[in-house]
Amino acid sequence: MNHKFDSRQSSEDLEKKIFDLRNLIEIGMSLSSTLEFENLVESILYSIIGQMFVERVAIILQVDIDVNNFYVHMCKGYDECFDKNTIIVQENSPLVRFFESDGKPRKIAELVQNPIFLAELDKFQPLDPEIFVPMVSKEKINGLLILGRKIHGTEFTESDLDFLKDLARFAAIAVENSRLYRMATVDRKTRLYVHHFFLERLDEEIKRCQRYEQPLSVIMCDIDHFKQFNDTYGHQQGDVILKEIGALIRKNIRKMDIASRFGGEEFSIALPETKLNGAHAVASRIRKQVEAYPFSGLKDPLHVTISLGVAEYDKARDKSPEDLLKRADTALYKAKNSGRNRVAMFK
Ligand code: GH3
Ligand code: MG
Ligand code: MG
Repeated sequence: MNHKFDSRQSSEDLEKKIFDLRNLIEIGMSLSSTLEFENLVESILYSIIGQMFVERVAIILQVDIDVNNFYVHMCKGYDECFDKNTIIVQENSPLVRFFESDGKPRKIAELVQNPIFLAELDKFQPLDPEIFVPMVSKEKINGLLILGRKIHGTEFTESDLDFLKDLARFAAIAVENSRLYRMATVDRKTRLYVHHFFLERLDEEIKRCQRYEQPLSVIMCDIDHFKQFNDTYGHQQGDVILKEIGALIRKNIRKMDIASRFGGEEFSIALPETKLNGAHAVASRIRKQVEAYPFSGLKDPLHVTISLGVAEYDKARDKSPEDLLKRADTALYKAKNSGRNRVAMFK
C-alpha cells in the first residue's frame, strides 16, 4: 500500500520535473535569441512572473559599461512610487561578494541572519523582497533578481529555487551577450550606433521599403567649424559636445529610427516610413535644439551649430545605401556652402 503511494508520488515528481525542464528550455531559447537589451530584461522578468507566480519582481544590473555599481533597472508589479535611485549596490559590497562565491538563490529570512548584510539589505526594503537570485556569468555577478511573495502566499520550495538558479544562469549569459553586442554596435562616446552597423541596418531598411513600397529617408549632419572649436576649447571639451549632441539626436527620433556616429563629428540617421518633408521636419527640429542648447562648459555654457542634409530613397537612383547617403551628403554640402546652421534637401 505504502509502496504504491510512493511510486505514484515519484511519478508525479518526475512529471513536474519534465514540465519544468521543458519550460526552462523554452525560456532559455527565447532569452538567447533576444539581443536588444530592454526587450531581453523585460522577457526575463515576465518569465519569472509566469513561472513562479510571484506578485513582483525586480532586476538590478550593471547597465553602463563605465560603472561599478548595480542599479534597479526594471521592476514589474510595483507601484512606480518608490524611488529606484535609492537602491544602489556596490560591486564590492559583502552581499555581492557572497553571491559571487555562493551562486545560489537565497531567502531573505536566511540572509538577514548575517549582520554584515544588514546595511545592504536595508536598501531593498521598498522592494519587499522574499528571494534573491544571483545572475552569474563568467564567474562574475552581472545582476540580481529580486522576487516578492507568491500570489497565493505559498512558500518557495527547493525545486523553485533550483529552477530559479537555472533560469538565472540563462539570464546572466543572455545579458552578457547583449552587453557584448551593444559594445560592438554602439559608439561609447555618443551612444549612437557605429558606422558599419548603420550601413547594415540601412541596407535592410532599403530592402524592406523595396518590398513594401514604403518611403525611407536619411539625414546626414556635421558640426559647424568643429576644428576651430577644438582649437579654442580643447579636444576633451569637443568630446563633451559630441556626447551631448548624441543625446539630443536620440531624444528627437522614434524607436524605429537608426542614428549613428557616422564618422568623427558626423552623424547619420535613417528614418523608415518617412518622406523627404517629414525628414526635413526632424532635421530642422534637431538643428534648432542644438543651436539653442547650452552645452556643458568648464565655466559658462557653450554653443555650437550643425548643418544637415536630407534625402529620400529613390528606387530608380539608389542602387546601394551608399548612393542614398551620397545624395544626403551632397545636400549637407549645400547647407555648409550656403552659410551653415541650416538644413538642405536633395531634390
Ligand atoms: P565645417 O563647418 O566645414 O564642418 O568645419 P569643421 O572644422 O567642422 O570641419 P573639418 O572636417 O575641417 O574638421 C572636423 C574636426 O572634427 C576636426 C577634428 O579634430 C574634429 N573631430 C573629429 N572627431 C573628433 C572627436 O572624436 N573628438 C573631438 N573633440 N573632435 C573630433
Ligand atoms: Mg566633417
Ligand atoms: Mg564639421
